Amino acid sequence: MCLAVAFSRALAGLDAPLVRVEVNAGGGLPCTTIVGLPEKEVREARDRVRAALYNAGFDWPAGRITVNLAPADLPKESGRFDLPIAIGILAASGQVPQRLLPQLEFAGELALSGELRAIHGTLAMTFGAQRDGRTFVVPEAVAGEAALARGARVLAARTLLEVCAHLKGVTPLRECKAAPAAVSEEAPDLCDVLGQHGARRALEVAAAGAHSLLFVGPPGTGKTMLATRIAGILPPMTDEEALEAAVVQSLARGGFRADRFGLRPFRAPHHTASGIALVGGGSPPQPGEVSLAHRGVLFLDELPEFNRHVLEVLREPMESGRITISRAARQADFPARFQLLAAMNPCPCGYAGHYTGRCRCSAAAIARYRSRISGPLLDRIDLQVEVPAVSPADLQRRARGEASSAVRDRVVAARERQLRRQGVTNALLPAGHVDRHACLAAPARALLREAAGALALSARAHQRVVRVARTIADLADAAEAGEAHVAEALGYRGFAPTAAASPQGG
Ligand SMILES: [Zn+2]
Repeated sequence: MCLAVAFSRALAGLDAPLVRVEVNAGGGLPCTTIVGLPEKEVREARDRVRAALYNAGFDWPAGRITVNLAPADLPKESGRFDLPIAIGILAASGQVPQRLLPQLEFAGELALSGELRAIHGTLAMTFGAQRDGRTFVVPEAVAGEAALARGARVLAARTLLEVCAHLKGVTPLRECKAAPAAVSEEAPDLCDVLGQHGARRALEVAAAGAHSLLFVGPPGTGKTMLATRIAGILPPMTDEEALEAAVVQSLARGGFRADRFGLRPFRAPHHTASGIALVGGGSPPQPGEVSLAHRGVLFLDELPEFNRHVLEVLREPMESGRITISRAARQADFPARFQLLAAMNPCPCGYAGHYTGRCRCSAAAIARYRSRISGPLLDRIDLQVEVPAVSPADLQRRARGEASSAVRDRVVAARERQLRRQGVTNALLPAGHVDRHACLAAPARALLREAAGALALSARAHQRVVRVARTIADLADAAEAGEAHVAEALGYRGFAPTAAASPQGG
């Protein structure tokens, strides 16, 4: 026999299309050709596979070897094809039997010693193998990750020799079963935050309805402290959400951590992070922070300091929950259903409205600063909340806040009401369904009409107020959203993009 086929997977966004690794070993002058890999990766793959074969005690077949990775037009990185190429060469040259190959898929990078190295994107590939009814042979380092795909058959191998022993029927490989331990983390507790009742309340509303939230206030008022505490009050992830988040994280190099499986992502990229790091990109395309925060929280501290272009790009995933990355001829689509939390100072120096009166920023400077957050982006932020500075004397009098566990109980109950009623969180209620599910009482309707005119609310902002009012009603276990709920929701749209219209001025 001189032709052998081993199956593997490529990665294109979240998809892991099947790749056939066809190896032909024939007579003729010694020569190795690999078709279907980018030019520069061919030599690397060939050298690694050749060294691994020698070091595992196998022969490199004499004569002409042709390796074809089909289909040819898929984006392929060489590393993970080392193992299927090696198996294909061994099978084509009769050094291992071919009998099991049709039921198996392989992925893994070979060290020169023949050991198998970790690869990324394992989870997405495992789902592909499972769909096609094959067993997936992977490096032991990523076997736990692969086994998260419930029902998939995953075999873990440490070396090329172990894989060959399995194919020869000598020593079967260990089957890996999913056993993700129920993890919990010691999240920082809300009880550490003194005072700031308004901001705490807004955080609770945001957590309950999965709403986006912007804190505006001087340094030292606890904006960041509050934001980082949302992890401790959000409802636990469902199994499905946990798996979705893990698949995306697994696509990023070093992005997946088994010890954090089932914990809601909380990503807090620095404002100096590059556009690619934030929204994704590169070749082949990698998910960015917006996707690593999928089903979790994306926290942007010092919002106006972020690259303005990047902030505008955020609008797409905030609406659709996905991001499309186009690089050269390739396009990749990644999920990015994150909850946005952001914080900013009220002015360039940070102290506008501070009790010390130390801000000397001009109205024009403040307006310029705030205009870095565009109207359309601000429009998409459900809750905009001022976090005032408190004098040390006032702070002394403040009691410790309520603990996160108590807040979380209310959040979970409110979230369950939403899911029972409409199947999605209030933040994700489609525009056409808002009115039906919000159940606005007549006086609430009247108040909203009046306010919409007075505040010149856009149609989008109007819908956001209704969604937030619905969440506030859910927190109160009210069937109808009443006047008080709408009034509170309107209060969360108080942040003025320009200083001229700002209630706190400068
Ligand atoms: Zn200032």
